[in-house]
Amino acid sequence: MNEKQAQERVNELHELLNKLNYEYYVLDQPSASDAEYDRYMQELLQLEEQFPALKTADSPTVRVGGTVLEAFKKVEHRIPMLSLGNAFNDGDLRDFDRRVRQTIGDDVQYVCELKIDGLAVSVRYEGGVFVQGATRGDGQVGEDITENLKTVRSLPLRLNEQATLEVRGEAFMPKRSFEALNKIKEEKGEELFANPRNAAAGSLRQLDPKIAASRNLDMYVYSIADLGNTNVSSHSEALNLLERMGYKTNPERRRCLSIDEVIDYCESWTVKRADLAYDIDGIVIKVDSLAQQEELGTTVKSPRWAIAYKFPAEEVVTKLLDIEVTVGRTGAITPTALLEPVKVAGTTVQRASLHNEDLIREKDIRIGDYVIVKKAGDIIPEVVGVVEDRRTGEEMPYEMPTHCPECDSELVRIEDEVALRCINPKCPAQIREGLIHFVSRNAMNIDGLGEKVVTQLFSENLIHDVADIYKLTKPQLIALERMGEKSANNLLAAIDASRSNSLEKLLFGLGIRHVGAKAAKTLAQHFGTMEALSQATLEELVAIHEIGEKMAQSVVAYFANPDVKELIEELKESEVNMAYKGPKPIDASEVDSYFSGKTIVLTGKLEQMSRSDAKAEIEALGGKVTGSVSKSTNLVIAGEAAGSKLDKATELGIEVWDEARMLEELQK
Ligand code: NAD
Repeated sequence: MNEKQAQERVNELHELLNKLNYEYYVLDQPSASDAEYDRYMQELLQLEEQFPALKTADSPTVRVGGTVLEAFKKVEHRIPMLSLGNAFNDGDLRDFDRRVRQTIGDDVQYVCELKIDGLAVSVRYEGGVFVQGATRGDGQVGEDITENLKTVRSLPLRLNEQATLEVRGEAFMPKRSFEALNKIKEEKGEELFANPRNAAAGSLRQLDPKIAASRNLDMYVYSIADLGNTNVSSHSEALNLLERMGYKTNPERRRCLSIDEVIDYCESWTVKRADLAYDIDGIVIKVDSLAQQEELGTTVKSPRWAIAYKFPAEEVVTKLLDIEVTVGRTGAITPTALLEPVKVAGTTVQRASLHNEDLIREKDIRIGDYVIVKKAGDIIPEVVGVVEDRRTGEEMPYEMPTHCPECDSELVRIEDEVALRCINPKCPAQIREGLIHFVSRNAMNIDGLGEKVVTQLFSENLIHDVADIYKLTKPQLIALERMGEKSANNLLAAIDASRSNSLEKLLFGLGIRHVGAKAAKTLAQHFGTMEALSQATLEELVAIHEIGEKMAQSVVAYFANPDVKELIEELKESEVNMAYKGPKPIDASEVDSYFSGKTIVLTGKLEQMSRSDAKAEIEALGGKVTGSVSKSTNLVIAGEAAGSKLDKATELGIEVWDEARMLEELQK
């Protein structure tokens, strides 16, 4: 390659990496895998090494992370938040060790830590109290996500001692929370998060802290930024100090006396990482002594005393034989790739999710293509791209069906939704999926009634709706293939036991649109019985803290349906419990503040604080903040240039405050 050709490729790589950075750091929706990104980055680094004149000041190789979103308050990092250099194999690790020893001599100890795949955050404490949290942003300036970080339970809001310090760590979403979140998104026909990292970043970069609160995020801290204020002399001492202060540090860290020990540690976690409850994408290796760290110093982008070892990508290539679509409980149509069997991260994969039609188009996936498959979060296999070089010309572009594969009714795309839907309420696929959902663990939890048996019962015409489950008889069950007398007895006992479940399990099991397990519990706690809930009005529902308008509308519409009334009557006749049996919730109206138990609307522009901050503070004091003014609104807080909501409040005679009055009350 001559310099001119190199220049062209460098330009291409700049453009490509800038686009990928934007998608990853700003949109939290990457279109390429990390392995692919790392390959381009390595290619650029090599070209820059070969042709130093082509290295520019704004090259992606010298920039940290992404840009800062305008919607957030900016936080200038007093101590920059850097990235890390990468090592992809033993050779790279040995090179790192050699560079280190050239500067500081042979007496070196390393600390190895798991490289949690989340997002770096910086948290500041004054007098032992958490005061501010920020994203890394471009390393110099990050986004203020204080309120969102407050919802991360493992981050202490108050330390065990009154220290003033700035601490860095990784906020992340555990694998299980990620799966649950994407499942809900899939059911709602919303775009899925590509991996737990992007889900964590997407959750913390929301303006409404309630969203972050609902996402079960976690955090490990790994360093003190302003170490000068402490009297520790090594990184491992700093980690121990953080632990004593009340922070959560990762317990798997290890001190290593040689690079061979480091390599052993990296190798063992390459295998063991699948068993962790969270994703890691590598191992971070740091020189332990702080004096030595100082001697080694940093480059503009990363410290010279640390390196990130990246695991080999768990991606494989296989042939896409066909695409099949399945119909979910809510009618959402999901395309699934049928693959030539292949081993990925220890298990054989034959099917992988393609999520939706847009993804197939974007990645131009065709039947007969060789595709790259990976396990997202090492759990759900997915197709991440196509190997275009292996195309023969025989590959067939895929057209989504226009009609439901089960009931043949025409599919529709509902506004704002990515998924196509079958909207026929009598579609057998939806009914069957609804039945499977009803018996599942978080719903009625009927042991022995899994997907297979439900499908069998359904196709034998023994159950048509959930009420029929309670009418099943022993002779009917025994007549089924592969069902002995003992299994039939166990199954009947499990069905019987489910009759006494508390109301929330039944409510969740009924599969009311937008009502997840958590909302079902809130509704059950609030109304106590199915009867009371079925008579709830839209206004009563919206007045409940966690219930939004969309969900409230869906609940009202559900109970207005005569078929539903009949179904509930049948369940009652079969003696299925219709009452809540758990403990009473803490009543927001019992919080001692002016706002507690009141429904409040914020409108117009606030000067002293953002609307989302005001909302979070009011909610923390037991108030409920809603979006529209109605008879059940108790108070309207109007900022500058408030419009129709203020007019409506005046018309309805609702109390109106200005911002100063609100601040006065908040500061009490
Ligand atoms: P990095 O991921 O290589 O390493 C630095 C980060 O490691 C820190 O900022 C911190 O967040 C994290 N970390 C986790 N545990 C740590 C610990 N114990 N100690 C210190 N740090 C720890 O660097 P980066 O700049 O954050 O991101 C670059 C990487 O992001 C790429 O290599 C690629 O994998 C990914 N990426 C992917 C795309 C894409 O399109 N798929 C785009 C951009 C970046």
